[in-house]
Amino acid sequence: MKRENSPFKIAVILTLAVLVLLAALVTINKMKSNSNTETTYDKQPPIEGQPTLGDSNAPITVVEFGDFKCPSCKAWGETIYPQLLSDYVDTGKVKFSYINVLFHGDESKLGSLAGEAVYKQNPESYWIFHKELFKAQPSENHDGLWITNEKILEIAKTIPEIDVQQLQNDLENQSGLEEVNKDEKLVEEFKVESTPSIMVNGTMLEDPFDYKKIKSLIDKELEESK
Ligand code: CA
Repeated sequence: MKRENSPFKIAVILTLAVLVLLAALVTINKMKSNSNTETTYDKQPPIEGQPTLGDSNAPITVVEFGDFKCPSCKAWGETIYPQLLSDYVDTGKVKFSYINVLFHGDESKLGSLAGEAVYKQNPESYWIFHKELFKAQPSENHDGLWITNEKILEIAKTIPEIDVQQLQNDLENQSGLEEVNKDEKLVEEFKVESTPSIMVNGTMLEDPFDYKKIKSLIDKELEESK
């Protein structure tokens, strides 16, 4: 036993402990200051079988994780989406896919099942139906029941390309369930916690309404894809 070394050892241990503590504090602060940045995944959500707008060869993919019951998704669709469409989708730079999120329970699920059924019938009609269903979301009391079989069929009847009887059967049989389950798995995999969640290639936006950020991410990816 070299007892005479003990004070020195204690001093070393204390110093190390202080250093570890400081490092931990720095890390915590860093995490805090980074909490406003985007999350980048190693891969993009696979979009096979998902409603997708735009040129299939477009170099960039933007994915919306959305919920027909969610008021922010309606707002996003009315404010950010039209800009994205005219700046990037119509110009062949971006393809845009929509993946269902079921955060509002049965109504989210019914809306999603309807969307999948319409998409299966006619991919073009899907986007009209999508827009009309969001349009039907009441601006007040959106938490009240509004996505019903009746509402879905009422909207479908206004879109000539939709076979309403087929849609009705598909809703009764939950024909789109497999697709909806697939979407739910992606929601889990990409840790979607709020809607809308927007991804540009593999990067999840911190604020989906920050169009400047969306633009800069797309432009950066376009530059890299050259
Ligand atoms: Ca889907």
